[in-house]
Amino acid sequence: MKTIIRNGQVLNVHTSRYEKKNIVVESGKITTLTENPVTAGQGDVIIDAEGKYIIPGLIDAHVHVTSATVDLATPQLPFTYITCCAAKNLSDALQRGFTTVRDVGGADFGLAMAVENGLILGSRLFYCGRALSQTGGHGDFRAMTYDGEYGAPMQTSATSIGRIADGITEVRRACRSEFRKGASFIKIMAAGGVASPGDRVTDTQYSSEELTAIAEEAEAKSTYVAAHVYSAKAIRICLDHGVRTIEHGNLLDDETAALMKEKEAYLIPTVITYDALARRGAEYQFPEVSINKIASVRVQALEAVKIARKHGVKIGFGTDLLGPLWEEQSIEFTLRSHVEKPIDTILSATKINAEVLNQSGTLGEISEQATADILILAKDPVEDISAITDSRNIRVVMKAGTIYKNTL
Ligand code: ZN
Ligand code: ZN
Repeated sequence: MKTIIRNGQVLNVHTSRYEKKNIVVESGKITTLTENPVTAGQGDVIIDAEGKYIIPGLIDAHVHVTSATVDLATPQLPFTYITCCAAKNLSDALQRGFTTVRDVGGADFGLAMAVENGLILGSRLFYCGRALSQTGGHGDFRAMTYDGEYGAPMQTSATSIGRIADGITEVRRACRSEFRKGASFIKIMAAGGVASPGDRVTDTQYSSEELTAIAEEAEAKSTYVAAHVYSAKAIRICLDHGVRTIEHGNLLDDETAALMKEKEAYLIPTVITYDALARRGAEYQFPEVSINKIASVRVQALEAVKIARKHGVKIGFGTDLLGPLWEEQSIEFTLRSHVEKPIDTILSATKINAEVLNQSGTLGEISEQATADILILAKDPVEDISAITDSRNIRVVMKAGTIYKNTL
């Protein structure tokens, strides 16, 4: 049985142009993409997309699917509850058109398997397991009043997007342990963060020796390292140690952007999370100390996108929203449109993010032999980004050939 999508304006992410084409989907893949008429056989599903715009399924390259609350430092929640929140985060994201997400701390193979087996009707999940953090780093959510080891009870809580690893032996063991559990890349906390109580956003974290060891472990697995980082200084240290994706990167400057371009590193901005936390964090008991830290990076988030574009750095698309704030995921497009054309943001969330995942030709594009991740939109998103940000305009969501939403 085939699914045939006829007469739509199909976005070619390699030329940034629309082409009126017919799409044939079989066994989860796009088998034919043609201007010629396609004849349907018995039992085939036909979708008429006349007057509609067809783009690849979106990819969000920076999420935490297990974030159940806004405050990452909140103590224990049962795994069962966290799993339900993760299922909701993944299924809501799919309904918003995100057919793939890359989790950068918290998700595991159990969740990926549940999506794969259809227990969760959600976005396809790439994961790194737990992010590596030094003691007192951005993955260390122990309160200053707690002097015990990082372990139970902290590791059984919603806060466990990270794990502590200090020194060469421990960081190597942590990388190997995440790879053993199916991680497709390694995430490190290479600078202070907004949500961690014990550091400053300008702090650099991890020593040169530790970063070298981590890079070597990723290289041994033919994959890469993603780093949470803000300041230009911390970004430069990461680049010097082979980090491939700079997560957030809010305090990027010209000189560092030029180095990013030279090293072919990717910037994954997450503009919406600072915006949403500043507006709504207090409502969800996000600690005052953290809200004060947001101010130092919020306005710079879009500035970093501008600087990176100026230097020709490849820019992906991320959101980093926590708990209930996930509902603002698509607003990242609106915010980015303040500094770039909608087509650039769309390419970030498709073609470029597919590169980040090492899935070029398979994800993030509509072409023959690609996975059939397809959105049919009521409006042209290149002209009007509300075609994506207002989910009523997303008429069809198809992931690997299966339709998860159809309001045509
Ligand atoms: Zn981060
Ligand atoms: Zn994050």
